[in-house]
Amino acid sequence: MKENDAQTDFDVLVVGAGMVGASAALMLARKGWRVGVVEQQSLASLRPPAADDPYDLRVSAISPASRGLLSRLGVWPALDAGRVCDYNQMRVWHQGGKAEMHFDSALLAAARLGSIVENRLLQAVLVSQLQAQPEVRLLAGSAVRRIEQDADAVRLSCESGEEVSARLLIAADGRESVVREQLKFPLWRGAYRQRAIVANVDTTRAHGHTAWQRFLETGPLAFLPLANGQSSIVWSADEERARTLMDLDDEAFRLELGAAFEQRLGEVTAVSRRAAFDLGWHAAERWLDGRVLLIGDAAHGVHPLAGQGVNLGFGDVELLERLLPTGGDPFRRRPLRRFERQRKAETFAATQLFSGLKWIYGQPRPELARLRDLGMSLVDRQTMLKRWIVSNASGASD
Ligand SMILES: Cc1cc2nc3c(=O)[nH]c(=O)nc-3n(C[C@H](O)[C@H](O)[C@H](O)COP(=O)(O)OP(=O)(O)OC[C@H]3O[C@@H](n4cnc5c(N)ncnc54)[C@H](O)[C@@H]3O)c2cc1C
Repeated sequence: MKENDAQTDFDVLVVGAGMVGASAALMLARKGWRVGVVEQQSLASLRPPAADDPYDLRVSAISPASRGLLSRLGVWPALDAGRVCDYNQMRVWHQGGKAEMHFDSALLAAARLGSIVENRLLQAVLVSQLQAQPEVRLLAGSAVRRIEQDADAVRLSCESGEEVSARLLIAADGRESVVREQLKFPLWRGAYRQRAIVANVDTTRAHGHTAWQRFLETGPLAFLPLANGQSSIVWSADEERARTLMDLDDEAFRLELGAAFEQRLGEVTAVSRRAAFDLGWHAAERWLDGRVLLIGDAAHGVHPLAGQGVNLGFGDVELLERLLPTGGDPFRRRPLRRFERQRKAETFAATQLFSGLKWIYGQPRPELARLRDLGMSLVDRQTMLKRWIVSNASGASD
């Protein structure tokens, strides 16, 4: 990569070098296109963590299908394996019932159910791989200011004053996408009125390479295993409850967390600093407008209860990889329309499913708790059904 390269006209421009945009840019460069990547963060802030840095608070459960894409792109082998934690079991249970669902990779003939990786690590490795590509110019530290398009090209100006153009623009600039807003892509969106609290915690018992999730009536609580033996928690809670939890001092939060998790990993002995995120869903009504295509969180957003947000984004990249030809003009209306149709349907179904699950598990009525219990024990006894659920969640179905 030639960062100060003067090139300003590209085959494809990608806005946003998050996990989805950076992997899309890498995939497009491998297809032989000249790619410009515009990222508002500076290169200095996109460096990987040092080996002895504490674990970042933002982590993702990466599905086997996403791992497959990242391996094909040469990214997965470049991750610091010492900071990646595979999990081969998943245990799900709920408040107000006795049933539990247990997924085991061995029983389901899978090598693993997924891997927990820090977002920062994955993004940093993607960016350093982009820097190594001669076909890619990374314009880091440049936020998008204005976008215009006509029949032949898309033109973009950055806060830095630089102007660039391309035949196709892929917007991967996240949930509050400036590209989507500026070009007035219509959007369906809703608030869950929940916040997700994240932190890394120590427990007296080992996590056993297991992803744990307890559905509380105020929202799901997940413990995800980290390679250093800690667990990353994602505690989604109704706004008021989340505010109360965030206001607690460390000791009170530690005790509250252990009780909410029913001490499944023994006592919670230490909690890192906490951060909280507002939760909502969104789905772009249109993904392709002229020469501009939305992908990743710019196009769709789901509840984190199933750990699928970035995996859906990698699914976008994977389908683009399959549908776009190698070389030539990257702006092909037919495959892009097909991409839009297929991914819009798939991601919208996921959005609805996760919203439905959030609703079902949020109902305090005892008859619904009994129904959930029945459903969970039925699923738990059906190996074929569990295999189907896991292969769909991992993106490995069909
Ligand atoms: C608490 C929580 C837990 C989650 N856990 C999981 C999980 O376990 N598994 C999972 O699959 N998903 C998970 N998700 C969802 C996941 O984090 C997102 O889906 C994912 O980060 C989206 O990636 P992206 O690259 O599309 O967007 P982003 O990560 O938002 O990246 C967008 C990029 O664009 C850049 N950008 C933005 N605006 C501009 C601009 N104007 N100009 C230039 N650049 C710009 C940003 O700096 C950023 O680098 C979780 C989400 C939350 C909130």
